[in-house]
Amino acid sequence: MSKRILVTGGAGFIGSHLCQRLISEGNEVLCVDNFFTGSRRNIVSLLADPKFELLRHDVTYPLSVEVDQIYNLACPASPVHYQFDPVQTTKTSVMGAINMLGLAKRLKAPILQASTSEVYGDPQIHPQVEGYWGNVNPIGPRSCYDEGKRCAETLFFDYYRQHDVQIKVMRIFNTYGPKMHPNDGRVVSNFIVQALRRQDITIYGDGRQTRSFCYVDDLVDGMVKLMNTDQSVTGPINVGNPNEFTIRQLAELVVELANSGSKVVFTDLPVDDPKQRQPNIQMARAVLGWQPTVELREGLIKTIGFFEELLSQGKAAHQATP
Ligand code: NAD
Ligand code: UDP
Ligand code: UDP
Repeated sequence: MSKRILVTGGAGFIGSHLCQRLISEGNEVLCVDNFFTGSRRNIVSLLADPKFELLRHDVTYPLSVEVDQIYNLACPASPVHYQFDPVQTTKTSVMGAINMLGLAKRLKAPILQASTSEVYGDPQIHPQVEGYWGNVNPIGPRSCYDEGKRCAETLFFDYYRQHDVQIKVMRIFNTYGPKMHPNDGRVVSNFIVQALRRQDITIYGDGRQTRSFCYVDDLVDGMVKLMNTDQSVTGPINVGNPNEFTIRQLAELVVELANSGSKVVFTDLPVDDPKQRQPNIQMARAVLGWQPTVELREGLIKTIGFFEELLSQGKAAHQATP
């Protein structure tokens, strides 16, 4: 049955894919975004659709709308961007969560929180399971994001216990794909843009740190599945691709797939950069019947295709660095 669905951060990378998916299933979508890291370009194909509505709004302020479901994605996700205005990052996670939970409470609507593997910090348990409490620096440059997202999880569970709000907390692991911003600053977009421009590939540190990369279509599929679970399913639940790679392996794969002559250079590792990350997705498999289907090589080929087109149109400015 068609629903009216609010997506905060809907003009961002993951949000725009989610809006597209929800519209294609016949729903009405209200996309709310302040365009801090998102752009109209990501949702331009939806603007003419009568079932799609766009509202420029900052979630740190109250919002009064009528919807059946809420996906709360508003928050910059790249370290470069969330550290640009760290106070605003914490406000977005914490005040944004309070406002969207207040809205969900009034509407008696289910609300999904885009939480993150960053709640595990620099993890001492590997792979990460949902029961692990994490290893997070509360006062470092990443803390505005990590602690903001942790506090948002606290608020979600308190609104659940105190006000019976139907919550769905999803811990998203590194996700990539078309529509990432060329200046986003995250590793997949940086490496692809550098490879396509025949510039040096910038590895931070020695490149032995690991991440596990999930293609965006898989992620969005897990998101929609979680939202539509029974009320008893609250999460937190890990969603990501458990295939783990070193950053060096990623660099080599991107250079190969982009047919690039770029060479790899090593620069300083940012403060508190997690050494390893891999989701344990047993819970997602069991509760959602979900698992990723797109391997890194296949996903990178699609993402490189997107950036090739973007760069050929001259739409990418200079890249962000930490
Ligand atoms: P993104 O930066 O592309 O999208 C975030 C969107 O939120 C942007 O459109 C931005 O303009 C908007 N936004 C930021 N602050 C806002 C505010 N105060 N009010 C309204 N809109 C605001 O990032 P993304 O990769 O699409 O991430 C989406 C969500 O998923 C984020 O909450 C992020 O923390 C979470 N997440 C993403 C990843 C990943 O690998 N991509 C991993 C873990 C968690
Ligand atoms: N809120 C909102 N939209 C609504 C309902 C609430 O933005 O439709 C905001 C409201 O402004 C408040 C927050 O959500 O700041 C938390 O709401 P709640 O009802 O939990 O708390 P209270 O209003 O009692 O402070
Ligand atoms: N990284 C890198 N070169 C870049 C961008 C990132 O080596 O140009 C590294 C970064 O230090 C980290 C990993 O790649 O170890 C993933 O970084 P990203 O910013 O994508 O995400 P996060 O650290 O939040 O997982």
